[in-house]
Amino acid sequence: MTRIAVLLTDRCHPKECQGECRTYCPPVRMGQECIVWGPDTKPIISEDLCIGCGICVHKCPFTAIKILNTPEAAEGEMVHRYGQNAFRLFRLPVTGGPGTVGLLGSNGIGKTTALRILAGVETPNLGDYEHPADLTKVLEYYRGTEMHAYFRKLSRHELRTVVKPQYVDGLAAIDQSIEDYVAEGGGNAARALERTGLYSARAKRLSEVSGGELQLTAIARTLSADADVYFFDEPSSYLDVINRLTVARLIRELGEDRPVVIVEHDLAILDYLADRVHLLYGEASAFGVVSHPMATRTAINTYLAGYLREENVRFRTEPVTFTSHPPKPPSARIPLVTFAPLVKEYPGFRTEVTGGTFHKGETVGVVGPNSTGKTTFVKMLAGVEPPTKGGPSPTVRVSYKPQYLKAQGDWSLQDRVMALSGGKDFDLSFFETDLVGSLSLRPILGTPLNKLSGGELQRVAIALSLAMDATLYLLDEPSAYLDTDERMNAARVIRRAAERRGAATLVVDHDVYFLDLLADSLMVFHAATHGTGKGGRGEGPYIMREGMNRLLKAVEVTFRRDEETLRPRVNKAGSALDREQKSKGEYYYDPAG
Ligand code: ADP
Ligand code: ADP
Ligand code: SF4
Repeated sequence: MTRIAVLLTDRCHPKECQGECRTYCPPVRMGQECIVWGPDTKPIISEDLCIGCGICVHKCPFTAIKILNTPEAAEGEMVHRYGQNAFRLFRLPVTGGPGTVGLLGSNGIGKTTALRILAGVETPNLGDYEHPADLTKVLEYYRGTEMHAYFRKLSRHELRTVVKPQYVDGLAAIDQSIEDYVAEGGGNAARALERTGLYSARAKRLSEVSGGELQLTAIARTLSADADVYFFDEPSSYLDVINRLTVARLIRELGEDRPVVIVEHDLAILDYLADRVHLLYGEASAFGVVSHPMATRTAINTYLAGYLREENVRFRTEPVTFTSHPPKPPSARIPLVTFAPLVKEYPGFRTEVTGGTFHKGETVGVVGPNSTGKTTFVKMLAGVEPPTKGGPSPTVRVSYKPQYLKAQGDWSLQDRVMALSGGKDFDLSFFETDLVGSLSLRPILGTPLNKLSGGELQRVAIALSLAMDATLYLLDEPSAYLDTDERMNAARVIRRAAERRGAATLVVDHDVYFLDLLADSLMVFHAATHGTGKGGRGEGPYIMREGMNRLLKAVEVTFRRDEETLRPRVNKAGSALDREQKSKGEYYYDPAG
């Protein structure tokens, strides 16, 4: 094992501390230069002199230092290191031949770094960050392995690569239409627009379209590009379940005769489109190790179990377990909140929702295509938007997490908790004993919200809404920006909160695994036209199987359950199971249903 010292530079604020890391470091006190101040006045930690006591880690008021050991399994396999006390990546995914290779791991573990290296955007330095990186050394390193030919072609500029970047929000600043932007990428743009469902929207300016359309635009451009290797970094963000399944099918087809590499946090989608998967483990922002490739089913089951035997690595303390969803007996369903049919109209848009009942302790998933009125419905229940017709909204105490999170002001979660904890509606004990741990909030408790990443802000918002004592919880897209692990933890804690309070919880989301872990029942929204305007119609709640059936029938996709883990798996279109389930109307097969 090798000791590494990592400084999270964005968390280190040398002007706002007393230099505690250096003051208390035992080797420094003995006169050794274990920690010195760098030109930016931030600490530089010597890994040779460090004795691994961990004192600096605990003394730093901003938790900006990590002192860790890298696993023996990865020894001698460092591919890239950004700097002295910076992130390092061990090993790379294997690609080059036809097939879709998936990368699965938490945020900050090196997936994008691996992707950038394979795409030829970043040259790996093999750990030697002091000298310019050089592909001839890389060729030497990979001699005799599958990746040698790949890097040889890359070094000779014989590989054309194209990357669908992780963040698509920036496209909105480009002054172009969807069609022009996709065409600029080369290849058959019209076909890509058609297949991604963008053709009728092709004339829209990028500045005017929704996040989902920006994502589809970036995917269409990548799909149509004339390249040798294709990379997709998180293609499912902002997309609804139906778009996700369509895009998954397109990427899967692309990978039938070409190399494709994909980073994806939605397990149903990754499971469907990847031929093999590398798990990435390590410590976020410090180091990441790419596992050897595995068949997709094995990789995802291993990931859920949380233990990688080949490398003796545990990357979760508890396994994630799925259960089938038999309907609850009527005696277990105690009605809690009833709402009357609701209608909301905006110019050119109308959504209507049939009335329904939520039960004590019930978690209700809300699914359907984008722009059908799911957020509008939740806002009506929250009392944020008045219905045009129907209602009134239920008069119970509501805790609402909106879809779009705003980090206004420079207050931190800790400040907020201090302000709320005097009130009788704030459950401080649940916050401290459960939410802080389950949502990994400790390192960011004191960070101003406007300095948090999207995933951190999401976890804070989930925690604040679950810590309020309410009868009805409304969580709009809690899985957005979260990695797979965070999604699984969030699902668990949302259920625990509902059970603790005997409350009802509504969760609008697009991640099938997240919903399957969470939901007892489903409300389903469909697109509907109203005169010349667009809109939607929401129905339910239905029992899980019935709700998924209604959603999936519209897209002709079937799911089965994995025999070993009971997790849902998309059936290959036209396979024997797919045909059998369709003929029985079992789009979301559940052995206990
Ligand atoms: P992931 O895609 O798994 O979220 P990334 O590959 O984006 O992870 O990042 C892994 C780590 O590398 C992060 O801590 C990030 O801050 C760090 N990192 C990324 N790019 C650089 C860079 N150019 N210089 C220093 N550190 C970087
Ligand atoms: P979903 O959650 O299903 O994606 P939304 O409830 O967010 O759908 O919104 C559906 C549509 O309602 C939007 O595409 C927009 O046309 C319309 N809409 C929502 N809010 C407003 C508003 N405040 N003013 C005008 N139109 C709105
Ligand atoms: Fe010094 Fe290393 Fe101890 Fe930190 S962990 S205080 S750098 S010896």
